Amino acid sequence: REWCVALPKVELHAHLNGSVRNSTLLELAKELGDKGVIVFEDVKDVIMKNDRSLPECFRLFDLFHILTTDHDTVTRIAKEVVGDFAAENVVYLEIRTTPKNNEAKGMTKRSYMNAVVKGLKSVEDVDVVLFDSNLRNDEKLSSTPMTDLGGDRKRKRIYVRLLLSIDRRETTSAALDTVNLAMEMKDQGVIGIDLSGNPVVGEWETYLPALEHAKELGIPTTIHCGEVPNRKEIQAMLDFCPQRLGHVCCLDDEEWKKLKSSMIPVEICLTSNVMTGGAPSLELHHFADLYNAKHPLSICTDDSGLFSTSLSNEYYLVASTFGLSKTELFRLAQGAVELVFADDEVKKSLRAVFELAAAETL
Ligand code: 5GP
Repeated sequence: REWCVALPKVELHAHLNGSVRNSTLLELAKELGDKGVIVFEDVKDVIMKNDRSLPECFRLFDLFHILTTDHDTVTRIAKEVVGDFAAENVVYLEIRTTPKNNEAKGMTKRSYMNAVVKGLKSVEDVDVVLFDSNLRNDEKLSSTPMTDLGGDRKRKRIYVRLLLSIDRRETTSAALDTVNLAMEMKDQGVIGIDLSGNPVVGEWETYLPALEHAKELGIPTTIHCGEVPNRKEIQAMLDFCPQRLGHVCCLDDEEWKKLKSSMIPVEICLTSNVMTGGAPSLELHHFADLYNAKHPLSICTDDSGLFSTSLSNEYYLVASTFGLSKTELFRLAQGAVELVFADDEVKKSLRAVFELAAAETL
């Protein structure tokens, strides 16, 4: 387990509001309870409950959003989430979040995102690299040796990029607003678009114009695909050919073949899939099939808060469930570098981080 913590890691699929610490959620719930907005004891039980079905998760997100959706709290959770990932040696993080309008709070999608960016900039105990211009040339290739990663000898550094999520409840026009916002915020670390939200809600045709618009603008997309069986939609998602796909749990044989021949990289979320019923068990998770087929994939948390996991734990589960050796696990983590949405400069310095760690540990 410790080795999985020390391993440098790349996180490509983490939802901001799903990655909030339970202690923070409880603190926020207490404040709202004291104000009489919610009943603290009820909310506490829901937050502390361990098993979560897919419909329950989405009810929970509605609750989390009540707790977290004001500008200062959004800034706080963004700051904490980045700090938590950096603490377990995530060296590159793509954090995704749904920009929200909330008139009562004077919040627009833009002001929500400004609050997120403010949080990323206010992380104190690690160096957060949000834009490439943050780095001088001589800094770009320096990295933390793996033997140092667990210790305090060197300040940790994490590259952070943002993906803007389209919620499946949104209209075409709201989805287009999100894509346009991503374009506007390109120089602030926003790097891609995600489609997520309750998979039994909404129609592919509603989001397609926004996803096509992203494609025209050259913004990479990643799509939650096949969390529930839906033949027509899964086919359409594969045909759209996004830069990455999340989950791909409920594919039939033909869709599975199509995915494999497409070589579209997959974000694998083991704990999330088992908890929400997308995979029958860890042992029977489709990771093994994709891994053996040498399909491009990366190990991710999805919602580390909601599912009480961490990226180190997900790597540990891969090793313990599927019997990967340290070298294989290391190569798996390293392979994710090639799937990041960031530019070649960032990729180059991430490759250097892994090469240095490999020289030390393998
Ligand atoms: P936020 O975008 O508010 O920062 O993060 C929470 C949101 O992410 C949820 O409301 C939901 O739209 C999306 N999300 C989080 N986890 C999952 C998941 O496992 N599947 C899907 N489809 N959406 C998710």
